[in-house]
Amino acid sequence: MRRISIFGATGSVGANCVDLIRREQGSGAYRVVALTGGRNIARLAEMARDLQAEIAVTAYPDLLDDLRAALAGSGTEAAAGPEALIAAAQRPADWVLSAIVGSAGLAPGLTALQGGSILALANKESLVCAGPLLRRAADAAGTRILPVDSEHSAVFQALGNDSLDSVKTVTITASGGAFRDWPLERLAAATVAEASTHPNWAMGQRITIDSASMFNKAMEVIEAKEFFGLRPDQIRVVVHPESIIHAMVSHIDGGTIAHLGAPDMRHAIGYALHWPQRGALPVADLDLAALGRLTFREPDEIRWPALRLAREVMQAGGMAGAVFNAAKEQALDDFIAGRIAFTEMSPRVENTLSALSAQAGFAADPDDLQTVLEWDQAARQEAAA
Ligand code: NAD
Ligand code: MG
Repeated sequence: MRRISIFGATGSVGANCVDLIRREQGSGAYRVVALTGGRNIARLAEMARDLQAEIAVTAYPDLLDDLRAALAGSGTEAAAGPEALIAAAQRPADWVLSAIVGSAGLAPGLTALQGGSILALANKESLVCAGPLLRRAADAAGTRILPVDSEHSAVFQALGNDSLDSVKTVTITASGGAFRDWPLERLAAATVAEASTHPNWAMGQRITIDSASMFNKAMEVIEAKEFFGLRPDQIRVVVHPESIIHAMVSHIDGGTIAHLGAPDMRHAIGYALHWPQRGALPVADLDLAALGRLTFREPDEIRWPALRLAREVMQAGGMAGAVFNAAKEQALDDFIAGRIAFTEMSPRVENTLSALSAQAGFAADPDDLQTVLEWDQAARQEAAA
């Protein structure tokens, strides 16, 4: 019986994980410790009742009474607020899914690692903001981080037992998002609704818009560097509109190992859940003949300046990742709220990086969570419209 917790259970990734656990309910394989969510109390309470969770936590203190009422008679405890999220992450668990969106996911994930849990990491923001901090916490507690982002799960699987020393390059694929084929001059007028559609994946709104701007892929490049310990020049991005190949690992002997599969997050989540074994998952089979062909293009950095920024961030090191992520989150908030245009997000992030780097430089890697959160706040203020 493995004890598991899901942070961000009510979101797109979280709900896919809940779906997998539900399918194995009755096998006695899992005991659910904590489930967390945001404003959707009804969904959180329904999940907690269904999975007989020990505790359900909403991020919002003002919703505690609602959550209590929704859980009445269920045997599941209710709690609310950021401190309650940390307390939930301190409850002993064998496997913890980090699927909160944004840098709000950093503290709970780090806490789970410090307690020795395996951290299944969907929250890429954590590695972008504080990769060295997370890796040190995992090492100190004798545990590990497993990738849940589909491209990183694909790299992890394609690498297998091969040594990193034999790896020449790692290529992650990008669908190109909502505006892949739009004329460039239309992008400035792109609406939030238009940016919130994705050709292949059903995901939360924020990551869907980040796919249209390629900030998602930019974050994933940094995530790959932090997760696998690659050099920046080893990481490539190729646009692959079909999203069937998720990543490729190319070796010094000329061999390239690709990972293929239907675009369904339950594969990457389920792979981490069953690791180091493989378990049956409700994911569609690949039918390559029906697909007919797979296509690839070079990413266009005029259309997607975020990819260039990712390289600059890796070059700068230190706190640049935390600044990049926070400025991106702020610019995205401002785009969603109608304060800035779609095409203003990248310049905001670039200007924020320049401004904070000019003030203080990005020199040192983060030593503690507090430092990361301070830089995060400073970057949000600088980036705000
Ligand atoms: P989502 O918006 O669907 O869900 C986010 C979850 O986080 C919800 O449970 C929400 O209640 C919770 N949340 C939001 N703000 C919070 C806060 N301030 N404090 C605590 N909880 C908060 O997002 P998603 O698409 O499931 O993505 C979650 C994470 O996984 C993101 O980091 C994303 O980049 C990553 N990811 C998602 C996908 C995908 O297919 N959706 C794929 C790869 C990686
Ligand atoms: Mg991804």
